[in-house]
Amino acid sequence: MSDKPILEVRHLSKNFDANGVLKDVSFAMKEGEVIVVVGPSGCGKSTLLRCINGLERPDGGEILLDGQRIDTGADLVQVRRQVGMVFQSYDLFPHMDVLGNLTLGPVQALKRPKPEVEAEAEQALARVGLAEKAKSLPRQLSGGQKQRVALVRAMLMHPRLLLLDEITAALDPEMVREVLNVVLDLAREGMTMLIVTHEMRFAEAVADRVLFLEGGLVLEEAPPKQFFHHPQTERAQQFLNTFEFDAVR
Ligand code: ADP
Ligand code: MG
Repeated sequence: MSDKPILEVRHLSKNFDANGVLKDVSFAMKEGEVIVVVGPSGCGKSTLLRCINGLERPDGGEILLDGQRIDTGADLVQVRRQVGMVFQSYDLFPHMDVLGNLTLGPVQALKRPKPEVEAEAEQALARVGLAEKAKSLPRQLSGGQKQRVALVRAMLMHPRLLLLDEITAALDPEMVREVLNVVLDLAREGMTMLIVTHEMRFAEAVADRVLFLEGGLVLEEAPPKQFFHHPQTERAQQFLNTFEFDAVR
């Protein structure tokens, strides 16, 4: 783990209409670090992630990846190559089989040879328990399987940073675990990840640090043990009380 931050977010602000969603958000991430962002619905978690991969243009502040500004809108293609993102809804192409979905980005955007990417994709599928599904269409997969494919697709671009926005929120409970296990494996392999989740047990297990976002500000930034067991602010305490959390605490 090098000491230079991969990602620096400095005094980020973003408004929609008159509403300041993000007011003044600052934090930094080191290589291999996993940060989980939690906070009440509508507090701007998705907006934060969308600003980082260039889907939203910030109104103020700076975002730096490996020391370079990425928030100017100047080189979005480059930004999205380096910053992978997986959303709640699996945005796989419905008419392409799994292997086609997985190889599209590396072949088209990174100009890598197709056979080489296919071999890598097949290996990656096997690692997430989907070796048999290479030729399946997305509609022939369960939600949990589709999200595992979406994670593999993001990883095949070899991003510097992976953003995960509530990737298990639309899944039946029995599928949540299989997807989160893949994320835990990625964390163990040293993938740098910024994760928004409502799965608090998973958050505690995977996070190196937790950011509690509320009112457009980072109200708390703490190691997971401290945040989940000894939150410093009343707002964080109230937020945590809304989860059925007894089994964890
Ligand atoms: P979270 O992910 O924490 O639930 P979001 O970042 O999705 O919150 O949204 C934060 C606030 O910004 C919400 O009030 C939401 O309605 C508003 N918002 C998000 N995206 C847009 C948009 N494109 N246009 C207008 N308002 C938006
Ligand atoms: Mg959201």
